[in-house]
Amino acid sequence: MPTVDDELVVLRAQQLGEADRIVTCIGKQRGKTRAVVRGVRRTTSKIGARLEPFNVVDVQLFTRAGRNRGLDTVTQVVMVHPFSSAIRQDYVAYAAANVVAEAADQLLESEPAPLQYALIVAALRDLATRAHPADLVLAGYLLRSLALAGWQPTFTDCARCGAAGPHPFLSVALGGAICTECAPAAGSLMPVDIDTMRLCWALLAGNWRVAEATDAPTRSAAMRIVRAYVAFHLEYELRSLALFAQVQRDEATSR
Ligand SMILES: [Zn+2]
Repeated sequence: MPTVDDELVVLRAQQLGEADRIVTCIGKQRGKTRAVVRGVRRTTSKIGARLEPFNVVDVQLFTRAGRNRGLDTVTQVVMVHPFSSAIRQDYVAYAAANVVAEAADQLLESEPAPLQYALIVAALRDLATRAHPADLVLAGYLLRSLALAGWQPTFTDCARCGAAGPHPFLSVALGGAICTECAPAAGSLMPVDIDTMRLCWALLAGNWRVAEATDAPTRSAAMRIVRAYVAFHLEYELRSLALFAQVQRDEATSR
C-alpha cells in the first residue's frame, strides 16, 4: 500500500470495536479524510492520545485506492499543536470547538481546501489560547468558512442593489444587508441595528479591535444572524451550535 505524509487537524474520534478508533480529519493537502488507528486502547499507544479531537498532527497514512478510498490507516503521528487539552479545560471553548468541527465536517469534502484548513487551525488556536472571546472566534470562523465556500455575505452595501450601507435590514437568502428601498421586494427580512451589522462586518473581516469592543446584546444578536446564515446554507441547524447557544445562556445566568 502507498503511504502519504500530511498535516491533519482531528475533528472527531469514534471507537471501532475493542481496540481501534476511526478519526475524521481535515488534511492540509488532502481535504477530509477518515482514517483507522489500530490498537489505541493499549496503554502503550501514544498515537491514540495524539489523535484527540482538535489536535493538529503530522501523520503518515497508508492509503487505499478505489472503493475503500477515504478509510486510510494511520501509522505514525507527530504532535504539531496539542490544542485538545487546553480547549477541554474551558466549557465554552470546548462547546465552540465542537461547532467548528461539526461545521468543517459538513462543509468540506475530500478535495484539498488549504484555506479552509488554515481557518480551522486558526480558530482552534484562538480557542486553545483564549486569544479572543469564544463566541466571537466561533462566529468569525463560521462566517469566513461559509464565505470561502462561496457564500460571502455583505454587511455593508445592499445585497440586492449595491447601494452603499449601512442598512437596517438583512436577508439571509439574498446574501446580507438590504436597504430600505429594496426592503419591500426582498421577502423575508431581519431588522438589524447598526452595531450588530458592524460586528458582523468586523467578524468577517477579522477586525478583532472592533469585534471585542461590542457589548453582550450585540454579540447575541450577531450570533443569531450567524446561526440563521449557517442553517440556510447547510440546510439544517448544527446540533453543536444549538448546544453552544445553551452553554452561553447557562454561563450568562451563572455569572
Ligand atoms: Zn438595495
